[in-house]
Amino acid sequence: MTDSHLAAAAPIPPYLTAALAQRFGPLAEEIAGGYPERRPVSLRVNTLKTDAASMKAALTEAGIRFETLPWYADALVLPEAGEGEVRTLPLYSAGEIYLQSLSAMVPALLFDLKRGESVLDMAAAPGGKSIQMAALSGGQISLTVCERDPIRFDRLKSNLALQGVRNVTALRQDARELDDFFRFSHILLDAPCSGSGTLLLSGKPRRMEADWVRRLTRTQTALIRKALRLLSPGGDLVYATCSILEEENENVVRAALSGGGCELLPVPEALSGQLPTLPVSLEGTLCIRPTALYEGFFAARLRKTK
Ligand code: SAM
Repeated sequence: MTDSHLAAAAPIPPYLTAALAQRFGPLAEEIAGGYPERRPVSLRVNTLKTDAASMKAALTEAGIRFETLPWYADALVLPEAGEGEVRTLPLYSAGEIYLQSLSAMVPALLFDLKRGESVLDMAAAPGGKSIQMAALSGGQISLTVCERDPIRFDRLKSNLALQGVRNVTALRQDARELDDFFRFSHILLDAPCSGSGTLLLSGKPRRMEADWVRRLTRTQTALIRKALRLLSPGGDLVYATCSILEEENENVVRAALSGGGCELLPVPEALSGQLPTLPVSLEGTLCIRPTALYEGFFAARLRKTK
């Protein structure tokens, strides 16, 4: 396989073409073929407002066909409906569903959230995973969300309100500057990233260059180190990106581990075994392969040991 072969297939940024070829060898071409123009609409049933059985009945009533997945009862795929059609449904305006990619539903499932626990979503907008964590706990966690971008922060707040999330403190600031006085039992860091797992080839080619990715990895590393400082001893951190580049994923986790005071908890095989995956260079982390159904995604679990 040559770079020109990959580049000819679609407007994949040359930086990414080269990085995939270097990291994955012959598999790179298949990965590139997994960036489709469109994926079917997928949604998460918002169990703060309804339940999967009622939602299936409502979709059937609306004449919308859905498919289920073995790894998550609240996830539905709509093979025929467009997003526009779904957005016109009353159940959408009522916040009973959240349109979310399947891969993006995975990180929150890596936590075991119990009543009363204090959870930080460190880079939270537009809020899909915050809402999912609230729903997974039956609305029983004490949630703090942080988002730096003012426009995205407003969208985050309106999404949380629409979806019925209560007990939430919303902070509009750079998460690297959060007060070290805070302590949380669980932190989700869904880090700003290159989006190398989620290219949509029908759009404009993405800007993706070595310098930019290096700057991102510096931010990701600062954010993950901050997350570890804010975690209570024994607390869990999930680090996630929608990238499939090692420098934004395994290397950032390695940097966190090298600081000591934390350990890697393997992603349970019961979950990863049901997903399309890519090889990882750090055993126990999860890299989801871009396919016709899944976006490329990465997730790792860390526990603070002291
Ligand atoms: N978790 C979100 C969800 O599921 O809806 C998606 C998060 S998105 C991948 C990353 C977010 O981090 C963006 O909204 C971005 O504006 C925000 N962000 C980037 N740098 C940040 C920082 N230093 N502190 C806080 N938020 C930041």
